[in-house]
Amino acid sequence: MKILISLVCGLLTWNAVFAKQQMASIRSEQDIDKYVSKMTIEEKVGQMTELVIDVIGHWENGSFVLDADKLEKAFIKYKVGSILNAPGPVAQTAEWWQQTIRTINDYAIRGCGIPCVYGLDQNHGTTYTLGGTLFPQNINLGASFNPELARRAASITAYETRASNCPWTYSPTVDLSRDPRWSRVWENFGEDCLVNAVMGSTMVEGFQGKDARLIDNYHIGTSIKHYMAYGTARTGKDRTPSYVPEYELREKHFAPFKACVEAGATSIMVNSGSVNGIPMHVCAKYLTQWLKEETGWDGMLITDWADIDNLWKREMVAANKKEAICMAINAGIDMAMEPYDLTFCDLLIELVREGRVSMSRIDDAVRRVLRMKLRMGLFQQPDTDLKDYPKFGSEEHAQAALNAAVESMILLKNEGAILPLIAQKRILVTGPNANSMRCLNGGWSYTWQGKDADKYAADKNTILEAMQQRFGKDNIAYVPGVTYNDEGKYWEENEPRIDEAVDAAQNVDVILVCVGENSYAETPGNLDDLALSANQRNLVKGLAATGKPIVLIINGGRPRLISDIEPLCAAVVDILLPGNEGGNALARILAGDENFSGRMPYTYPRHSAALTTYDFRVSEQTGTMEGVYDYNAQVDVQWPFGFGLSYTSFSYSHLSVDKPTFHDDDILTVSVDVQNTGTRAGKESVLLYSRDMVASIVPESRRLRAFQKIELQPGEQKTVTFKLPARNLAFMGADGQWHLEPGLFKLQIGTQVCEITKE
Ligand code: BGC
Repeated sequence: MKILISLVCGLLTWNAVFAKQQMASIRSEQDIDKYVSKMTIEEKVGQMTELVIDVIGHWENGSFVLDADKLEKAFIKYKVGSILNAPGPVAQTAEWWQQTIRTINDYAIRGCGIPCVYGLDQNHGTTYTLGGTLFPQNINLGASFNPELARRAASITAYETRASNCPWTYSPTVDLSRDPRWSRVWENFGEDCLVNAVMGSTMVEGFQGKDARLIDNYHIGTSIKHYMAYGTARTGKDRTPSYVPEYELREKHFAPFKACVEAGATSIMVNSGSVNGIPMHVCAKYLTQWLKEETGWDGMLITDWADIDNLWKREMVAANKKEAICMAINAGIDMAMEPYDLTFCDLLIELVREGRVSMSRIDDAVRRVLRMKLRMGLFQQPDTDLKDYPKFGSEEHAQAALNAAVESMILLKNEGAILPLIAQKRILVTGPNANSMRCLNGGWSYTWQGKDADKYAADKNTILEAMQQRFGKDNIAYVPGVTYNDEGKYWEENEPRIDEAVDAAQNVDVILVCVGENSYAETPGNLDDLALSANQRNLVKGLAATGKPIVLIINGGRPRLISDIEPLCAAVVDILLPGNEGGNALARILAGDENFSGRMPYTYPRHSAALTTYDFRVSEQTGTMEGVYDYNAQVDVQWPFGFGLSYTSFSYSHLSVDKPTFHDDDILTVSVDVQNTGTRAGKESVLLYSRDMVASIVPESRRLRAFQKIELQPGEQKTVTFKLPARNLAFMGADGQWHLEPGLFKLQIGTQVCEITKE
């Protein structure tokens, strides 16, 4: 018997060696069709499968190594099409990635002639490669209102990701952050659908390069996420159900995905949760009808992490895994992120053999997978060579990250023009976020939770280090007062030592208190209380008692309530999650080397029971309506969406529209004069809002319709012009149709308002 087994094993190895295939010669759509027609069901289902790298390797003396047996199983036996993620919570070098992905590709090509597509969450730069460039998180890019910064960030990230031999990223994220409680607010561009659409689609162009159908070796494919309405869970907790009227789904949540599809996004990742009771992963209407059929999108739809399992283990819409697979694939899923094992393959083959999943659905899915690989150029050149990427982690790339960080910081209050800090000689830097690269970066930084950023980015400046460099070490005192427990959960803090900070404050001219959150990502970032931690608020209160002026620096991914301490501060700056160059950017801006130009990408709430977004429906806030019975439903916010100050001032005048009465097909030319009325150069985001005064569905208070960032020297004036298609003023009705109803509309830019009428 033993002899027989070794003979069989010997034969298998022999077969595997001799089954070695050449790379498939796929150069066109027709080639894909021909190739798919010859593929076995095992090969097809394999291509629809994605495993996490941990499944094909093991740890040896502290290093992760690929394992020949596991590679054989995944690629030679199962023909797996894709691998994702970094192994364990460790960042790897570009050399390691080069070699690892090369080996994986060799096996994949041996298995069925098709290279593997490797995917990484390069969410705010080169997340998973040591020495790579980390940009501000997307929420900062949203706050910059400057799409060109997003384009540059994406294109540098693409370059450095290819340097790591990886052709695909699960980015950008265009969920709408419409609930401040959510732990993923900072992964996207804020609460507004237009900002997400513009920033997301510009990033797609930056990542993928000029030609989305022929992505070169310096660009990568994108996976837009998470389709859709992930950020509005009723509970506020990650991966829990959302309930959103379908007209709002279509008008707001769908819009950024549509824009990214139009920009040529190669793939889209599906929302883990359910919407209106239906898990998104089984919703044929939204996956196939809306996304694929109506837009004509020929890209690939991938599940999120283990979400087919979640259909039967968490959502309870399927009795077992086989049913779950059947539902998801029939709904339109093309690739399953099946992190842990290969049961998906066996069960899907059974379903096909039983006729419960048609071969035409499988072929459609496989065509989409191969099309994506073709567009990434993998059939021409599956691997890259690190020596072709001399700018990896370069100073030039760091400068781009610095520029993005500068433009994303938001000045929220500046009493007595205390900023820039010119008159003040001695500065106390305090607070738990003052000396932490982990806090500046947030999650998805070197590792998923971003816990080790201080180790991996030791050569970068924290706020404290940057302040010491910019203002002189002797002028900076540092006493943290409150510290995070970096070994514990992200919200855990050590025993506070507020008195020490208060003592140190006696000897300074001004206090810089750096508060916020420690890093987290996804479900571990769930919270129970929206307020900033009690220790941190007590720190500010203790320091305020000294009578020294306080500059509050908020450093976190979502708005934590600070209404009791804000009045104690002379200045408030929200730096969100500015990344590796965030410390330098802040020091420069506080010194007055740069000016502020960021604006709130979301509504910053003042009270825990008063949460809203800027585009609320008019009757949601009746307290403000003259002549109407006051239902006292006014929502008092700390800072509205779009708010942000500058060291200079701007005035708006001469808002005009070329067509005071308009029709459906008109393009409205809207222009306004903007002048820098202060004494410093500055950038200004010019935001155009509209309001439909009477509509058959309760109208919104206002909607952002266009934005443009300009730079003005002191005294300089520019005319900003927007070309606004009248149809952009339409709303989606409960009947699923767009409506542009006759009647009055208001347009607003800055202080200027004008009326136009639809005939
Ligand atoms: C996250 C995705 C991510 C995926 C792969 C999931 O848990 O929700 O955003 O792309 O993991 O890492």
